[in-house]
Amino acid sequence: MVLYPTLVLDKTYLPITIFSHKKAFLLDYLNRCEVLEYYSSITISSPRLEYPAPLVIRIPVLMRHWQTTSPTRRAVFIRDNFICAYCGKVVKDSEATIDHIVPKSKGGKWEWENLVTCCSSCNQKKGDRTPQEAGMSLLYKPKRPTGLQIALNRWKGRMNREFLSVLSTYGVDFGTVAI
Ligand SMILES: [Zn+2]
Repeated sequence: MVLYPTLVLDKTYLPITIFSHKKAFLLDYLNRCEVLEYYSSITISSPRLEYPAPLVIRIPVLMRHWQTTSPTRRAVFIRDNFICAYCGKVVKDSEATIDHIVPKSKGGKWEWENLVTCCSSCNQKKGDRTPQEAGMSLLYKPKRPTGLQIALNRWKGRMNREFLSVLSTYGVDFGTVAI
């Protein structure tokens, strides 16, 4: 089944993430969200009925309770758009590695600001050293992303015109997302 994006707003109408239309539909079915807009021509069918797919929903949480917590490998790759932080090469999913900027052996932690996506050759070259020690520099400074940034990167390439138009309606600046 093709999954379409549904924009998720918090209690105060701030965009916080993106769910699949199927998940949004399920939340609506369970009365766990309010549907604000539907897709005009995308539907969800059951054997007997057809329902319009949710385009924008609102869930009863506050954005500050919806922040990304501890990073996962995959979330770091998605945040960095699979771009090696040292050489700028786009790395394949299977070849992407995680670099601790300050190595673990020197007290570097598993946290957003200390982790970057790295290709295997840069990772080998850097080894167990800091970028300064290795004479390598970072092309970008890693930050803790918002849940929405991760969601936008995760869904990029799968956004249709209707979805892009609601992103701008709700003030999401898609232009700032690295493509
Ligand atoms: Zn590299």
